[in-house]
Amino acid sequence: AHVLVCGGTGCTSSGSEKIIDALNKNLEKYNLTDEINVIKTGCFGLCALGPVMIVYPEGCFYSMVKPEDIEEIVSEHLLKGRIVKRLLYQETVHEDNIKSLNDVDFYKKQKRVALRNCGVINPENIEEYIGVNGYSALGKVLTSMKPQEVIDEILKSGLRGRGGGGFPTGLKWSFAAKSVDDQKYVACNADEGDPGAFMDRSILEGDPHSVIEAMAIAGYAIGATEGYIYIRAEYPIAVARLQIAIEQAKEYGMLGKNIFDSGFDFDLHIRLGAGAFVCGEETALMTSIEGHRGEPRPRPPFPAVKGLFGKPTVLNNVETYANIPVIINEGAEEFAKIGTEKSKGTKVFAVGGKIHNTGLVEIPMGTTLREIVYEIGGGIPNGKKFKAAQTGGPSGGCIPAQYLDIPIDYDSLISIGSMMGSGGLIVMDEDTCMVDIAKFFLAFTVDESCGKCAPCRIGTKRMYEILDKITKGNGTLDDIKNLKELCYNVKESALCGLGQTAPNPILSTLRYFEDEYIAHVVDKK
Ligand code: SF4
Repeated sequence: AHVLVCGGTGCTSSGSEKIIDALNKNLEKYNLTDEINVIKTGCFGLCALGPVMIVYPEGCFYSMVKPEDIEEIVSEHLLKGRIVKRLLYQETVHEDNIKSLNDVDFYKKQKRVALRNCGVINPENIEEYIGVNGYSALGKVLTSMKPQEVIDEILKSGLRGRGGGGFPTGLKWSFAAKSVDDQKYVACNADEGDPGAFMDRSILEGDPHSVIEAMAIAGYAIGATEGYIYIRAEYPIAVARLQIAIEQAKEYGMLGKNIFDSGFDFDLHIRLGAGAFVCGEETALMTSIEGHRGEPRPRPPFPAVKGLFGKPTVLNNVETYANIPVIINEGAEEFAKIGTEKSKGTKVFAVGGKIHNTGLVEIPMGTTLREIVYEIGGGIPNGKKFKAAQTGGPSGGCIPAQYLDIPIDYDSLISIGSMMGSGGLIVMDEDTCMVDIAKFFLAFTVDESCGKCAPCRIGTKRMYEILDKITKGNGTLDDIKNLKELCYNVKESALCGLGQTAPNPILSTLRYFEDEYIAHVVDKK
């Protein structure tokens, strides 16, 4: 038998380390150390129920486990085979049987592609990754595919950038492949900074090798021999697991010289970000890797032509990379069967706010918001009504209740004034003030503006001041008009994505909830 304990940041913060300690002590006490294998995994997804653990072979999912519960689990379940029902996740209890996790509402409509190994393998052991087909995609491309064939496969899959932009990944790779230079780079954006977002962190904590493997594949496809992973230093567990994974990959010959005897060399470096949101913007990220202050620079030139250290560079985010080995192993056509016509595959969301099952979910593109909120998410607590959901964090917008049935994909979300973003999804109930929400996100942008260009440096501050005036009951109808105008000006004239998208939370709340703004200035509340 073996016991999987979530070692992601969510469960670690709710005490999973103490659970593992208690497990080890009790296994010793009951002489079970040789029979039971305790594995610390990445995130299972149900973060609200942490610390969580699964006991195999039965597949019992114990939730909200406390260290003092462990002796009972060991002495009853592991020693005598008697399941401790009171600690089971109640959704898995069905009369006298235990339901498989795949059959509970939270998981039923999910499809785990990018998260396929999270909560399944020990991320600190490369052999477990290899045991689930890991590095076979790299082996396949290096031994049987030409670089152009790899790019064609990614193009055919329809994969689009999961960092928020939705640019076709294969096209990005083909531009970098066409650039002629003696040195090219592959980079990974792990500088996830949206409030409420933790998709990339969870992938790196739970399955770091999938990203390493994908970056080596990208390197082969575009002709790069070196890669950089830019990850925020606030993610210590992810950083530590990446470091271990890179070392192990080198040891096993998956990184370094002459990988799979193919003559292809590829090396990877980690660079730590110091927590500036703007460093998630691609040009600022590369400037920061180069050792300069992380400020954006104008495009063109685009990174595929002149990126890191002035050389052609492919930059993708963590989740995009996590899909690559699956596309290579299972084929582009298989991958393209998932999702909608223009948005293929799945999307990972970090679901939070006023919802029962906060956590990490991965859904096929085209799933509706209603399915996420009411089926996967378990609905709104305290019988409250759904008001809106914010996607894309401070760059995104809100989706009001009338669009609960819109399929979630890149283009549908843009058509209603929101955006996919990198995957933060915050649910709001009928008690939420939408002007406050806009103010919250704007306060974040004001704080994070790098100050390089005036529209963003000054414009976001002025927008914040107007919002503050409105929420304090001192605003006028003219303020709302001026706010709108300022939003459009900043959107048009800011240098980088941070400033260009900063007005989005205001514009989308104004679009659907202008009455709330007006109520603040007319009723003075
Ligand atoms: Fe800096 Fe904002 Fe200008 Fe971007 S838009 S360069 S974050 S000041």
